[in-house]
Amino acid sequence: MGVVGNSSAELDADSPGRCGAAMSEAPGDMEPTVTQAGEDRCWMWRALELARRGAAVGEVPVGAVLVRDGQLLGSGFNRPRSAVDPSAHAEIVALREAALAVGNYRLLGATLFVSVEPCAMCAGALVHARVERLVFAALEPRAGAVSSHLQLLDQAHLNHRVIWSGGVLAEHSGALLQDFFKARRGA
Ligand SMILES: [Zn+2]
Repeated sequence: MGVVGNSSAELDADSPGRCGAAMSEAPGDMEPTVTQAGEDRCWMWRALELARRGAAVGEVPVGAVLVRDGQLLGSGFNRPRSAVDPSAHAEIVALREAALAVGNYRLLGATLFVSVEPCAMCAGALVHARVERLVFAALEPRAGAVSSHLQLLDQAHLNHRVIWSGGVLAEHSGALLQDFFKARRGA
């Protein structure tokens, strides 16, 4: 699995099942990176479920969840067409919902899980929101601004550094995207 990122976390453990369970129930001496990797996969499945919902209404399938302390704060899927809003990417939808839910536009200590590498707009929004971590699945070779191009989150001049990693369930996200575009070409 082609894991990329600026963190050193091991991302190859199995899902523990219910998201949030491993973090809250793990004994203090449990290996933290394995627990986190299982959590990451669990939440990424949730993001992929949302991506599927987007595809079902004709949107490019991208889903996102915003999580803090094992709790889901916000979620969304890509919907610029149905919302008639060029900023309605999955990440922005999830950030807006989470900020409203907690009454604060700064989401310190939160992690955003998204099924595709964020674009420049969404990477910028993660910095504005002071999100602690970004985990994405598939790389976005055209518009991706975290690893594929620009490396926006690693710019030294930024006053907030988002830790990021990619490749979590990337094959599942890639398959969703492929199926979507194949069906659209065939329509
Ligand atoms: Zn975006």
